Amino acid sequence: MREDIMTGLGEECGVFGAYDFDGENVASYIYYGLFALQHRGQESAGISVTNTSENCKNVMFHKDQGLVDEVFTKKTLNSLKGNLGVGHVRYSTAGGGGIECAQPFVIHYIKGILSMAHNGNLTNGVELKQELATTGAIFQTTTDSEVIAYLIARERLHTLCIEDAVKSATQKLEGAFSLVVSSPAKLIGARDRFGFRPLCIGRKDNTYFLSSETAALDTIGAEFVRDVEPGEIVTITDGVIKSEKFADSKKTARCVFEYIYFARTDSYIDGQSVYSSRVTAGKLLADKFPVDADLVVGVPESGLAAAVGYSQGSKIPYGMAFYKNSYVGRTFIKPSQNERTSGVQVKLNVIREVVKGKRIVMVDDSIVRGTTIRNIVKMLKDAGALEVHVRVSSPPFRHPCYYGTDVPSRENLVAVNHTVEEIRESIGADSLGYLEIDDLDKLCPGLEFCDACFTGNFVGGVASEEEGNGCCLTKLV
Ligand code: AMP
Repeated sequence: MREDIMTGLGEECGVFGAYDFDGENVASYIYYGLFALQHRGQESAGISVTNTSENCKNVMFHKDQGLVDEVFTKKTLNSLKGNLGVGHVRYSTAGGGGIECAQPFVIHYIKGILSMAHNGNLTNGVELKQELATTGAIFQTTTDSEVIAYLIARERLHTLCIEDAVKSATQKLEGAFSLVVSSPAKLIGARDRFGFRPLCIGRKDNTYFLSSETAALDTIGAEFVRDVEPGEIVTITDGVIKSEKFADSKKTARCVFEYIYFARTDSYIDGQSVYSSRVTAGKLLADKFPVDADLVVGVPESGLAAAVGYSQGSKIPYGMAFYKNSYVGRTFIKPSQNERTSGVQVKLNVIREVVKGKRIVMVDDSIVRGTTIRNIVKMLKDAGALEVHVRVSSPPFRHPCYYGTDVPSRENLVAVNHTVEEIRESIGADSLGYLEIDDLDKLCPGLEFCDACFTGNFVGGVASEEEGNGCCLTKLV
């Protein structure tokens, strides 16, 4: 019988690592890096650091539930002394997992202390956990990430160095993972053979960084060195970046939804500007679904660049229709369903002056259940918009994701059981157009990508039922 602990959780998270070869503390770099990656996870945040001049005998860490600025005070941050460290922000999932699921995982094992942070979701996490459990392993969390940490520690017993242990561990993993690991005295990054989730390398003077997104490097004034390639392990030590392939990546499959929704608009993933991908999606929508209208508006944040693209393609002026209140922290008392139905809107408000008396084209990144867009269409109409034409910069969501995108179960995906016309009617729009599947390749030209949530083409295999995919979207308005 499989217990709860055999359930994996979908993890759309952010990871960051830093190593200062001049021996200065890196905790504040990691803090600002995580702050820049906050959009990738709001459930918990954590940083672990160690001091290479003391042979990394001690690892100091702090992690907790909440946003980065809720978890760390100046005092906590100042107390984290060390020139090598990793950090993590974790996405909320409905599947459970409290403080014990917060990362980085800091584990003591025969060779010392290892810290690890993970973004992605394994497809064989349950099987690996089962196999390890039968040999006596005990797990404290429900995450795949703990399995990876355990595997690395176990492999280290049979290998000469930590990077070899990471290599043999990663060879056993299926599915999505971008990892940062610190172990005496190396900073290691690894990206699964398909490259589902992003990971890049940065540098500032004598400090090297690993980050989920390039925007976090910009935030700390570091230069972008390069992306970690799918199937690659990089080991940063003594100021050099060693590279090794742990898998041959003949077929790669970057998550196309990173370009559409997850990643920051100012990031680049594998050389492709996220902003340009979104503008292109908007232009394609303008081309395929033209309409007579007065103004194009985008739903903040990820709909904005696509709206710019629609405006450029259609020559209809672009306007700012929404004010977004971004100060909604984890402890904020969210309105109840009743309050929401009776019009309590805390995150988004319409700028009435902009939309009243106008025919609006409203661009958003995706429709999952349809709740968000229905509310927003109503808000626009209540504010006096004459018509609302919805354009969506992704195709209809029809499948679960096994590689770390948090998608509700199929019966909750509005596009599974409804036609586009039915969806249009249910959200109260005057017209509705989705990006076409055949156009997805234009968002990241020359790069192979995964579009399984739209097509059901799961290049990286699927997880067993127990993997617990289909967690709810919990950060919705
Ligand atoms: P819904 O109300 O279920 O249709 O939610 C759609 C909105 O949720 C989109 O406009 C996105 O901003 C956001 N969204 C889409 N996919 C995800 C995801 N995997 N996790 C969290 N939010 C998402």
